[in-house]
Amino acid sequence: MTASAGVRFAEVIVDVHSRDLDRPFHYRIPDRFLPSVQIGARVIVPFGPRQVEGYVIGFSEQPDVERVKEILDVLDEQPPLTEELVKLADWMSHRYLASKAASVQALLPPGMRAKAAVRLILSEGVADQPANEGGSATFTHQERELLARLRQGTPVYKEKLLQQHPAWKTALQRLVQRGVIVEKHEVSQAVRTVYLNVASCLLPDADFYAVVGQIPERAFKQKEVAHWIRQHGPEVPVRDVIRATGASYSTIKALAQRGIVTLSQIEERRNPYANRFDGPLERPLQLTDAQARALNAIVGALEAGSPERILLQGVTGSGKTEIYLQAIAATVAQGRQAIVLVPEISLTPQMVERFKRRFGGQVAVLHSRLSQGERYDEWKRIRRGQVSIVVGARSAIFAPLEKIGLIVIDEEHELSYKQEEQPKYHAREVAWQRSLHHRAVLLLGSATPSLETRHMIEQGKIRRLLLPTRYNQRPLPAVKLVDMRQELQAGNRSMFSRELHRLILDRLEKREQIILFLNRRGYSTFILCRNCGYVARCPNCDISLTYHQAKGFEMLRCHYCGHSEPSVARCPACTSPYIRTFGAGTQRVEEELHKVFPAARVIRMDVDTTGTKGSHERLLRQFREGQAEILLGTQMIAKGLDFPRVSLVGVITADTSLHLPDFRAAERTFQLLTQVAGRAGRHETAGSVLIQTYHPEHYAIQYAVTQDYEEFYRQEVQIRRTLANPPFCELTVFTMQHQDREKAERLIRRLEKKLRAALQSVPNVQVLTACPAPLSKLNGKYRYHLCVKCTDFATVRPALLEGYLEYSRLARQQEGTLTVDVNAQMIL
Ligand code: ADP
Ligand code: ZN
Ligand code: ZN
Repeated sequence: MTASAGVRFAEVIVDVHSRDLDRPFHYRIPDRFLPSVQIGARVIVPFGPRQVEGYVIGFSEQPDVERVKEILDVLDEQPPLTEELVKLADWMSHRYLASKAASVQALLPPGMRAKAAVRLILSEGVADQPANEGGSATFTHQERELLARLRQGTPVYKEKLLQQHPAWKTALQRLVQRGVIVEKHEVSQAVRTVYLNVASCLLPDADFYAVVGQIPERAFKQKEVAHWIRQHGPEVPVRDVIRATGASYSTIKALAQRGIVTLSQIEERRNPYANRFDGPLERPLQLTDAQARALNAIVGALEAGSPERILLQGVTGSGKTEIYLQAIAATVAQGRQAIVLVPEISLTPQMVERFKRRFGGQVAVLHSRLSQGERYDEWKRIRRGQVSIVVGARSAIFAPLEKIGLIVIDEEHELSYKQEEQPKYHAREVAWQRSLHHRAVLLLGSATPSLETRHMIEQGKIRRLLLPTRYNQRPLPAVKLVDMRQELQAGNRSMFSRELHRLILDRLEKREQIILFLNRRGYSTFILCRNCGYVARCPNCDISLTYHQAKGFEMLRCHYCGHSEPSVARCPACTSPYIRTFGAGTQRVEEELHKVFPAARVIRMDVDTTGTKGSHERLLRQFREGQAEILLGTQMIAKGLDFPRVSLVGVITADTSLHLPDFRAAERTFQLLTQVAGRAGRHETAGSVLIQTYHPEHYAIQYAVTQDYEEFYRQEVQIRRTLANPPFCELTVFTMQHQDREKAERLIRRLEKKLRAALQSVPNVQVLTACPAPLSKLNGKYRYHLCVKCTDFATVRPALLEGYLEYSRLARQQEGTLTVDVNAQMIL
């Protein structure tokens, strides 16, 4: 929408991250910008002494202040945001208590954020004079120094120059007043459009031969090049012409002067998948009956044209992806568009290839392993409406499509759909907002749906489609539990049970491959009795207590409600002294593997070995190519992998995730183990899965072994109901961080008191006691949590926002930070 007649002012969200300034500001729209200042447009505006980037979110006939300033520049040809996305940003800032500026920024590809800078340029005439001649007598010493600096020729920016030479400030002001120096406003962003020089030859045949015939014999190179361009055209990159013919640029330019070719610039697309899938497109598969029934239901919903949520529940390998592909085809046939979200770590080249094979150039891919330039170019294709399908990780939910018919979230239970920085949005919630706007179908796929999503079936908010078996009825792999308590009792103190040891040796001998999985997430420590499996739990919350050592005392604390008790030296259940803090990292397991199986080559995958771009894919490729026998990793290897030669999957210890100090620990354990178990046996090699644990009787482990989601859900939802945890409430978590432990604690307690008072009369709200976070110290800062449970967020929102704004300001004044996480998924 452009400004209508009479409207002269734009409401602009400025890129200033202060909550005190978090509202739209009015700016006059100069006449020359009237056509281009639209809702969603990106502009440069003056703000105090600076110039900042801003986004137009509305118009007004009257300015809100008397001395209103003017928009200085409009940055893009097409506004980066659609009106829908402008509204979505507003919704996000409301829902997640985030600033408007941060919410808008979250919608855009990284690197797009612009910086405005003032460049200093010598006005003409002055530039040619040597510093110590001519009018130099009229300059002071400082002014001469400044002018000499500008004469060096490299770009000089005001802010940077004054940082280096604060004393030059008045000299600079005078020179600008006298017109000797001109200030020029420049805008830069990290990503840029790249242009490509191309030569084209569009002459009709007869004309072409006539003109080429006139080229003199001695310019034979020109003739050769003209023919080459003609043959490879109509449009070819100049660099290709030079490479193929060995001609120089001047030869090509001579052809342009003769009117044989035209030289121009086009936008170059940085295509991360160039030349990778350019075979013929693949045809859809013939669906099984169960698949066809599911697809029909989805297509029915697409045709009905009202927003709807559908859960597609089916084990790994049941053919969900094939259904996504055919539902997308139906969406595109309707003239609408689709977004497919996949967890970042499942977004492998093979995954992308499946979509590209089916839909070719209609697909754009967005994820963080692309370079910023690649992402920007993909994003531009989407914004211009050149693609119908966007496949990507979490933030692809913001793809600027305008006719969405279908949004797919694969592995909908995955934690990575929650953003852990401001705005702390959940992609599932954002997807539903967009579905409501576009009247689109939101399709959630999983073998192990989140409790929240599964619970919505009972509430009638979501429809479920089941895929009961694997495609081809392939059997699920045999899963075996090993009771680690018996290992200790038999005198085996190693981290590998006798059975796992035997199976690893067997596979190494047969030259088959092994995946070892260290089920470790989070950082906390709990104490576990290696003799009987006892773990201390909170009497109020049934959450594992975390071990703390402070001032010589050994304490166990609940990080949810604040309960604490002294630690123990002997197991309260069996009196064994083998009760210790528990958990080993991947590095230790790797060392142990080298010791016990010196001949085996090991590839380790964890945050340390996969930090650089492409390392993730490289390690997996090496394993696929057989450069190692054992792949050892954290949950990042639990999904999306499909290795034909893997015939053993071992879980070193299921207990590390089972005893996380989080009420979702059982759910996470069930999801992870089910996923790991689904890994093996996807191929002809019969796979076995071995899970080591001190708690073989725990329901999360038992039902993962039998892959019985429904039974797991029934038990888990009971516990959640009893303790009034999500999905029976919504959880908001405040985190206070400070270098000084006491300050952090004092601030969070004051916030607790304030919220208690403010929420006193609101029904169904519980403010829990503030307490140290499970990660009680991080990067030198002490961390405290305050949890608030509610059943209707709207009733608590005003009080939470007020408390948050007041205490984040107070915290900042005292050099601390307060963050807030609405609908928190991870309580670290
Ligand atoms: P999921 O997404 O549920 O894990 P996939 O869609 O990846 O399952 O299917 C698992 C395997 O079965 C894939 O190799 C896929 O090509 C194959 N498959 C699924 N449906 C069919 C079908 N209707 N006909 C032939 N092969 C199929
Ligand atoms: Zn014990
Ligand atoms: Zn507790």
